[in-house]
Amino acid sequence: MAQLADPKNTIAILNKYHIVFQKKYGQNFLIDEHVIEKILKAAGITKDDTVLEIGPGIGTLTQYLCENAGHVIAVEIDKNLIPILENDTLAQYENVRIINDDVMKLDLKELIETENGGKPIKVVANLPYYITTPIVMALLEKKLPVESITVMVQKEVAARMQAKPGSSDYGALSLAVRYYSEPYIAANVPVNCFMPRPGVDSAVIRMKLYREPPVHVENEELLFALIRASFNQRRKTLLNGICNFSGLNITKERAAEAIARTGLSPDVRGEMLSLEQFAVLSCHLS
Ligand code: SAM
Repeated sequence: MAQLADPKNTIAILNKYHIVFQKKYGQNFLIDEHVIEKILKAAGITKDDTVLEIGPGIGTLTQYLCENAGHVIAVEIDKNLIPILENDTLAQYENVRIINDDVMKLDLKELIETENGGKPIKVVANLPYYITTPIVMALLEKKLPVESITVMVQKEVAARMQAKPGSSDYGALSLAVRYYSEPYIAANVPVNCFMPRPGVDSAVIRMKLYREPPVHVENEELLFALIRASFNQRRKTLLNGICNFSGLNITKERAAEAIARTGLSPDVRGEMLSLEQFAVLSCHLS
């Protein structure tokens, strides 16, 4: 099968099967081999790896994954693309399992158990942009046997994932990503690398998951509630954010005391706190 990274081969498949791009599924197919090579390099794919690809589309990235990984699990929501993958673009590969499902509804733990004996897998995807954050958060929070997540996302989402305290991109997503993983932006990708072209530029981000979180907390739920409270109204001080947040039920006096014990100024804003400082604050409040 000809490589789909060559745009003329992608166009041939689109015409052969009269494919209409499903906007609701975020279908922007890759047509640039260099970008695919950067994704594979960032993920460090070898024949020892089992890879979960979310949204193979017509199989462009999947072809390269099959060539380079030991085993590939490809989960695609669009049922119309399954026969194309099975009978045409991925037909020559024996190391791929194609699953027609919504990745958000799958029991990924069970899938990794059956496909890889529960051993850690790598996730690689050109993610559908309408659902990027929920997918990444589910992969991080569910504490699955996942070694790394290497994904194409909107450039501004990648910036938010990797942002440091004090920057305008910094927020709850940055802190969650850093709690579970070490993020690294591997490439910026312009719109002309996709068919059809998306409205915004993209970036490839790799998150290497920690075995243990980099900070110690007594109560993870409290940590994330504090983070949400702090960024709920960005312009408020941390103190007001915490005591006005309905999910927390913490008095102003208690919050003020914990902020002081953390070594922070009473009028500090949440966006200035590092993950370590949020962790210390949560320990003082737990
Ligand atoms: N991997 C292909 C590529 O790079 O050319 C396609 C990437 S395209 C941006 C996203 C793909 O994810 C589409 O094929 C879309 O149908 C699929 N998709 C969207 N939502 C999904 C979901 N919830 N579960 C599984 N696949 C999904």
